[in-house]
Amino acid sequence: MKCMNCGSDFGTPYCGQCGQEAASGKVTVAEMKRSLLRAFSLERGWLHTVFDLCVRPGSMLRDYLGGKRIVYIGPVKFALTAGAVYLIAMGAIHVPSPAGATAGEERVLELWNEFYQRFGQPLFLLAAPLIALATRVLFPARGYSFAEHLSINLYILGLQTLAFTPIFAMAYFGSNAFMVAYALGVAMMLAYFAWVIRQVLAERWWTAILGGMTAAVVASLAYFAIVLPFLVLFARVKGVALF
Ligand SMILES: [Zn+2]
Repeated sequence: MKCMNCGSDFGTPYCGQCGQEAASGKVTVAEMKRSLLRAFSLERGWLHTVFDLCVRPGSMLRDYLGGKRIVYIGPVKFALTAGAVYLIAMGAIHVPSPAGATAGEERVLELWNEFYQRFGQPLFLLAAPLIALATRVLFPARGYSFAEHLSINLYILGLQTLAFTPIFAMAYFGSNAFMVAYALGVAMMLAYFAWVIRQVLAERWWTAILGGMTAAVVASLAYFAIVLPFLVLFARVKGVALF
């Protein structure tokens, strides 16, 4: 039969040239149901990726880097979608300013939220290569390339982002509850980072924790050094002098 996507001839369930399914003429309800089921399948797709990243990130990442790819959502797509979910949650919920904040501090927080809403995805995309560079330098022993470190960190970042998103709901319980949840969320992200590093990059727990924290701090500093001039510029455009 002829592939509806690329036109090559094939006799298998999927096109050998482009990978499109054989049964794709008109979009049908049956087809939509199949793709929905696939998206929530425990054997491949979103749930499978999230589940494995939660339960066995080490073997999942080794599998992925080793070539077992089709059962997982790709790292870039995974991280970008997680980032989009996060930004939607952040935009939908008004994050309360901490109790006792001055008007000036509140204005800066608001500005930061606005800045993040506007440039969230590029900001998000910047974080991954920075942290990948840091883990590449700090954990050379396994011999992974920069691209492999980038894939690992995109998966980590994606899962951290998904796990962090429900924290915005705590804003409904006031600023104190939000701050506590936020702090716990950051602690959870760091713990997850060290845990995954221990499984894929580090031989020992103490190198995973120490190296992981160093990578997080160095990447954060580099991140803010790059982002700050843009934030200042953004503030200037909005008529706020940050410095
Ligand atoms: Zn094709």
